[in-house]
Amino acid sequence: MAEQKRDCYEVLCVSKGASDSEIKKAFYKLAKQYHPDAHPGDKEAEARFKEVNEAYSVLSDADKRARYDQFGWAGIDGAPGGGGGGFGGFGEGFDMGDIFGDIFGGMFGGGTRKNPNAPRRGDDIGVRVSLTFEEAAFGCKKEISYNRIEQCPTCSGQGGTGTETCTKCGGRGHVTVQQRTPFGYMQSTQACDACKGKGKIIKNPCKDCRGSGQTRKSKVIEVNIPAGIDNGQRISLRGQGNAGANGGPAGDLLVSVSVKGHEYFTRDGFDLLLDMPITFVEAALGAKIVIPTLEGQGELTIPEGTQSGTTFCIKNKGIQSLNGRGRGDLLVTVELEVPKGLGKKQKDALEKFGELCEDKHHSKRNSFFSKFKK
Ligand SMILES: [Zn+2]
Ligand SMILES: [Zn+2]
Repeated sequence: MAEQKRDCYEVLCVSKGASDSEIKKAFYKLAKQYHPDAHPGDKEAEARFKEVNEAYSVLSDADKRARYDQFGWAGIDGAPGGGGGGFGGFGEGFDMGDIFGDIFGGMFGGGTRKNPNAPRRGDDIGVRVSLTFEEAAFGCKKEISYNRIEQCPTCSGQGGTGTETCTKCGGRGHVTVQQRTPFGYMQSTQACDACKGKGKIIKNPCKDCRGSGQTRKSKVIEVNIPAGIDNGQRISLRGQGNAGANGGPAGDLLVSVSVKGHEYFTRDGFDLLLDMPITFVEAALGAKIVIPTLEGQGELTIPEGTQSGTTFCIKNKGIQSLNGRGRGDLLVTVELEVPKGLGKKQKDALEKFGELCEDKHHSKRNSFFSKFKK
């Protein structure tokens, strides 16, 4: 189901106008606080850590921050930059060592190297879908085409036949090299060149995937968009992202929704707001007027003596709530339109009308003037 991503500034606990150095400071503090090394196995901390990182990746980049300030997450998720959208970095490829090596140095123990043959989850893929106001209000089905990495069908993801553990690195995928320097022996770890870091060697690589075990495919999927979804919300489709490696699960497809504006209505949560111009005569005498509703034409009864700016609530004519429990309301605010370009006859009639008016007919104006004169 749809979920709302938290605001970047909120995540980092900084103000909208925060300077780059304030943002950096806040990030260091929170990243340290939630770093998985400090909370082994704590999913909550891990989620917070990713959230903090994602927020920082947006706010630390002037270009992204500008887009975020203007469009929110809709300006970032799946924005130009590739099929992977902005999510790629937080799927499988998320390696503390890589990202934090330069920032924290050896603070977290330099990061432990992963077993190259361990199952790895595939990356998430971000896509955007644009909906009309009605499609979002009533829900719809949308076909989404995108490219994703799938297991190669020819070799069932094995990359070929005759797989052997790499003898040079013993299957670890990396080797430790000792170098003699003027300061003594220095040790460094490098990816194994014999197996290119994979830990195993395939004797007969698959011709279709050239031994990678994966292939890029275009995919069309039908997505059920729930009624009531709003601009900027996101739907996660489990397991529809890129294939995992070594038997790991696939990532998710994250569908970010952008909803087009409506000619008449604006949304306030699940309520619909409508500004409706009415004439002076309708306001004074009362009237039944035709109004637009989501389902077409509707009717609104305006009582005699309605003031401009009055809001009428029509129950259950708003948007279906996302949890399926009921509908919001339609809130119609009437705006009195003063007639313009009147002809002589009309003006004469109004002047006569004016002469017939007494103080009590404009009580607000009269009480204003009586105070004003004092
Ligand atoms: Zn293959
Ligand atoms: Zn090797």
